[in-house]
Parts: sequence; C-alpha cells; structure tokens
Amino acid sequence: MINAPETNKGGAGPAAATAYIHFRLEEFACECGCGANGMDPRFLAKLDRLRSVYYQRPLTVSSGYRCPVREAAVGGSGANHPLGVAADLIVPKGAALRDFVAGAFAVGIRRVIVYHDKPHTHVDDNPALPEGIFVK
Ligand SMILES: [Zn+2]
Ligand SMILES: [Zn+2]
Repeated sequence: MINAPETNKGGAGPAAATAYIHFRLEEFACECGCGANGMDPRFLAKLDRLRSVYYQRPLTVSSGYRCPVREAAVGGSGANHPLGVAADLIVPKGAALRDFVAGAFAVGIRRVIVYHDKPHTHVDDNPALPEGIFVK
C-alpha cells in the first residue's frame, strides 16, 4: 500500500459517485449549450465545502467548464475553465466576499480573482499559475 497524501492531485481513487450538497454538476456545464462538462470533482468538492462551512449563503455559478470554442468566444486564457479547475461565482462585495475569500483559501483553492467591472468572482485551482488573490 502506498503512502499517498490524501489531497494530492492525480490520486488514483475512483471518482466517487459524487453528490454535492449545494451544487448540481449541471450548473457547471459549458454555457454555450454544447453539453460538455469536464469539471474536476476534487475542485467541486472544495467549492461545496467552501459553500457549506465558510460561505453560508447562496452561490450562483455564472461559468464553470468551458469548451475550447466557448473559451475563445469569451476571450479566456485557456488555462483554467477548459481544464475544469475554475469557476466564476456571483459573490456580493463586502462581508460576503471576505468570508468567501477566506473560505476559498481555507479549503485549499489556490487563486481568487476579484474584478472591478464584472459581477463575478473567479476561483481556480490550477497549480501552474501563481497562488493568491488578484484584483483586476
Ligand atoms: Zn461549449
Ligand atoms: Zn473565470
């Protein structure tokens, strides 16, 4: 038996028949209507825990998985949403955002991007990108 870290990416555990408490997987499907949904279940489990424990308010998903066509259409970098490790969520500014950001890091999400001119907050778990909170 190998001594595997429990939260390591690339773990060999079977994808659990995943039931999220606060989300339905369909909420993260590509918004172009193509039906693609390549969300990483480990990332979704973090979001679910964030919602359950740290951010005890409704969360609306404005974008989850994006197929390459959709990613190009919205001018995305291609580095996050098409990999299934990113989501855009509607989080009000103020105390709610504070709880959300603190919770995101507490559950192990690597990056949070808050936009001045967009209603959503982006979170992602891409290990290839810098960790932290960014304001754009
Ligand atoms: Zn699509
Ligand atoms: Zn995003």
